[in-house]
Amino acid sequence: MAHLLTTLAHAGCDIDPSTASLIPPLHFSTTFERNADGEYPHGYKYARDGNPTRRQLEASLATIEGGTDCRAFSSGLAASAAILQSLDPGDHILIPDDVYHGFRRLVVDHFATRGIETTSVNMSDPACIETAFRPSTKMVWIETPSNPLLQITDIRKTAATARAHGAVTVVDNTWMTPVLQRPFELGADLILHSLTKYISGHSDALGGAVVSFKESELFDRVCAYQQQVGAVLDPFSSWITLRGLRTLGVRLTHQSTTADAIARFLEGHPRVRIVHYPGLKSHPGYDLARSQMRGSGGMLSFEVESSEADAMAVAASVRVFTRATSLGGTESLIEHRRSMEGPDSPTPPSLLRLSIGLEHSEDLIEDLDRALAYR
Ligand SMILES: *Cc1c(COP(=O)(O)O)cnc(C)c1O
Repeated sequence: MAHLLTTLAHAGCDIDPSTASLIPPLHFSTTFERNADGEYPHGYKYARDGNPTRRQLEASLATIEGGTDCRAFSSGLAASAAILQSLDPGDHILIPDDVYHGFRRLVVDHFATRGIETTSVNMSDPACIETAFRPSTKMVWIETPSNPLLQITDIRKTAATARAHGAVTVVDNTWMTPVLQRPFELGADLILHSLTKYISGHSDALGGAVVSFKESELFDRVCAYQQQVGAVLDPFSSWITLRGLRTLGVRLTHQSTTADAIARFLEGHPRVRIVHYPGLKSHPGYDLARSQMRGSGGMLSFEVESSEADAMAVAASVRVFTRATSLGGTESLIEHRRSMEGPDSPTPPSLLRLSIGLEHSEDLIEDLDRALAYR
């Protein structure tokens, strides 16, 4: 197989047989003609079941993750819900204690109330994971690096432990993408993506995907749910996400390099208490990150000396960064995470999270330097 960068650059660009166009057409049709004999000549019947543009994106995502197949949904959380609904009442799942807050809410508000038992675990400690298993544990949900503390979970070890207990492993690979982390090579069964972030990459499309390593009853349930519930990715979002995918390799490599420079700058700044970035030697997951990631990623967080008000004042003073949630776009973002997550948030009050975009690192560093000197 070609290098990932090459595969990405050509994603979805099979020459269109009817026009020879290089760039794939965008199919909006909700319905497809049936032959006189009752067959569907191209396999498409109705857009909830399948749409050629969405199918192109799903096939590309499966290829780049090294999986067999993929299903694209209207958001990352819709894709997460498709995985969770495959569980039965009484089944038990392990989730990270610092999991993406929207996922925690989905589990607590919608699945725990329907009999899915959940244990929140410190997944940076393999011993905590091991002891949390029960006979009814069916799934382990990993998000690494975690959000917003960037703790690292050992995917290889956790997936092996899960397998020994008869449970499947799901990795939320939104922050790393296949460019920086390859969960199937480390033993994962399913990969979850919020396509909204790095994969579409321009803060203009909402989407999610589930990629399966191999055919399984679990993935069949995900597929049936997509078709029967219909939270499918729409044709335009599919098309624009496929366009984003072609530049993912260069974008994320650049973002990761810039984030590394910013983490080093912040670590040396007297008004910064701690920087959470797995590319720093001071990070407790540094060695593990090097063993399972191909770069440290475009996300980092740091805690400002000394109060929440100081953190808010820094966020208020930036000019190149934009104060907004989300991540993975071309523009750098800064976010006071705790006030975004709400009163039950476990996030430290003086923590600011950064999503690094495609600006020059010197402009970003100068902006943070100025903002940190606000008084
Ligand atoms: C944003 C995000 C999600 C949720 O995706 P949506 O597209 O917003 O539904 C899930 N996991 C991670 C790590 C995310 O950053």
